[in-house]
Amino acid sequence: MTMEAFPKCQKCNSGVLLPLSDYGRDGAPIQYKAWVCSRPECGFNIRIDNGEISLGREISSSSK
Ligand SMILES: [Zn+2]
Repeated sequence: MTMEAFPKCQKCNSGVLLPLSDYGRDGAPIQYKAWVCSRPECGFNIRIDNGEISLGREISSSSK
């Protein structure tokens, strides 16, 4: 398994976007609901809510 199948991050141009899945209220799986950059220092993330795309500004981190 390689990461080459995932789209490249358009922000840092170095990491890849990893798909995250979630579950809806009815228990139905929601595939690829959110994408996050594989590089924590980049922090790019995008999520899809009810068909609308929203860009995350920064992932809040409490420790560093
Ligand atoms: Zn990135």
